[in-house]
Amino acid sequence: MSTGKINVAVENIFPLIKKFLYSDHEIFLRELISNATDATTKLHHLSSLGEIKGDLGSTQIEIKIDKKGKKLHISDQGIGMTKEEVQKYINEVAFSGAEEFLEQYKDTAKDSGIIGHFGLGFYSAFMVSEKVEIITKSHKDRPATHWTCDGSPEYTLEASDKETRGTEIILHIDKDSKEFLEESRIKELLTKYNKFMPIPIKFGTREETLPLPEGAAEDAKPETITVDNIINNPEPAWTKKPADLKDQNYKDFYRELYPMQFEEPLFNIHLNVDYPFNLTGILYFPKLNNDLNIQKDRIQLYQNQVFVTDNVEGIVPEFLTLLRGVIDSPDIPLNVSRSYLQADGAVKKISNYITRKVADKLNSLFKKDRKGFEEKWNDIKVVIEYGMLSEDKFFDKAENFALYPTTDGEYFTFEELQEAVKEHQTDKDDKLVLLYASDTEDQHSYITQAKNKGYKVLLLNSPIIGHLIQKLEGSKENVSFVRVDGDTVENLIKKDEASVSKLTEEEKETLKPMIENVVKEGGYTVQMEAMDSQALPFVLTQPEFMRRMKEMQQTGGGGMMMGDMPDMYTLTVNTNHELVGQILSTKTEKKRERLIQQAVDLARLSRNLLKGEALTAFIQRSVELIK
Ligand code: ADP
Repeated sequence: MSTGKINVAVENIFPLIKKFLYSDHEIFLRELISNATDATTKLHHLSSLGEIKGDLGSTQIEIKIDKKGKKLHISDQGIGMTKEEVQKYINEVAFSGAEEFLEQYKDTAKDSGIIGHFGLGFYSAFMVSEKVEIITKSHKDRPATHWTCDGSPEYTLEASDKETRGTEIILHIDKDSKEFLEESRIKELLTKYNKFMPIPIKFGTREETLPLPEGAAEDAKPETITVDNIINNPEPAWTKKPADLKDQNYKDFYRELYPMQFEEPLFNIHLNVDYPFNLTGILYFPKLNNDLNIQKDRIQLYQNQVFVTDNVEGIVPEFLTLLRGVIDSPDIPLNVSRSYLQADGAVKKISNYITRKVADKLNSLFKKDRKGFEEKWNDIKVVIEYGMLSEDKFFDKAENFALYPTTDGEYFTFEELQEAVKEHQTDKDDKLVLLYASDTEDQHSYITQAKNKGYKVLLLNSPIIGHLIQKLEGSKENVSFVRVDGDTVENLIKKDEASVSKLTEEEKETLKPMIENVVKEGGYTVQMEAMDSQALPFVLTQPEFMRRMKEMQQTGGGGMMMGDMPDMYTLTVNTNHELVGQILSTKTEKKRERLIQQAVDLARLSRNLLKGEALTAFIQRSVELIK
């Protein structure tokens, strides 16, 4: 037996490891299994090169809990280490790695973002152990070695009688870390970090019932056998070639990733690059609802099939964090802080690549099957609109496939839309007027009014639509969007200006103050307009600009500060409506006011603004009128 002292400047490195890495102790298992995986992968590699002859036998990794002995075993059947290699890689190299890590992150270690992404390697075992043993036998025909270290810089090295190739790491779990002797906790960690590692990992055994042989007797009992419980899928879908996968394989893999998710994904994008960086993965478009925040951050980031994080902020453009799936890249620097990550050139390229791939996929789906794409639109629009808003490159590409549906279920691209409305929907400056609704129920009477005149009314109801409209108007000079209840169509669209008013200017002058007098409490601005005789006598609209700014403010960013400004409405009096003539000719003031009040209330009712006391008064007045 020989003893030695690990050559370090910082004598008390182990307490430091424990202290600084407190929050992320659990990563030790990921680190040790990664080492075991590397050792096994190297073995396969040497074998494929012919440097190791003969059958390799089993190469699986095994995790075992010895609850009584308070030990956790991690064994592999990989290349193993000779005594000299243990000296070099464990005593010198690994240790200097741990030391360097602590030097670098002493002050920033509180930023737990870094820790979880730094491979501390073998020494992370000391975060949970009071003593660590390594028993290892190299694939080269050399005696096995037994290394022991109790967390002080001293270690012992002695011969071992281990006869099989590979390495066994024995952790003597310390009393603060007893959780790691619980089967359920280890299982949880294995599922989180090792679910898709490339070498099979055994954790315990399980019973398997064999199918009955054909022609078995009716009362025959099926046989049960005990098999190794392999916790991982060493060949997850993203590591395979797209050509070898069917639609069902992608769906099955989605289920594997999100066992609790019952909805099927809408479609997937298989990522596969090897130049100028390495990246593979599968992204899924899920069915989204309007509550975006809880749906974010489901993409899992892997490094060579080892789970790293499900916070992909900075690597994937923000709008794509709404997608799900897996990204695997050895090129993403994981041992750095997030702000560094965002400035990193490789990460920028990866982000651009993913954006482009997503845009290309959407484009090809649209081209291949427009009908199918239209059917999905409602579920995918948020991601696309969000992308158009936040990424200019995506905005340009989305021009080909972003859709603008009407309330009648027609779907237009922006170009088609402009073509469709250019004849009839222009304002007095020849700008295209794009009418839209955000809620077909609430805005029903306005939609009907516009549709009766033959106008197209879009249905744009995403939470961020105000911002997108703003951007579209900024990028196209010749269009303006107006919500159907933003103004009367007569006021908006040129063609309709021509209709003549049945009232003379003088009559209008008389009528206006009468109405203003009644509505002064509501603070409405009164205007006269010669509208259709079928339109309501009074119409209540809310100017587009004001409403949009307020909405944009609510959804964050953009928009001018409108504070708590009250909602402002315009009351348009339809000078061509019979009732308006009737109001004018009513002699008694009381009767006239009642008519005005009734017409105003109808306008408010059509906007869903009539509530409480005003609604009760309206109902009473209506009953009086029909008596
Ligand atoms: P890293 O894995 O980043 O190189 P580690 O501290 O985890 O750093 O390990 C140091 C070295 O020890 C490894 O590079 C490897 O050569 C050796 N090693 C660790 N674990 C094993 C193992 N299970 N089998 C064979 N060699 C190992």
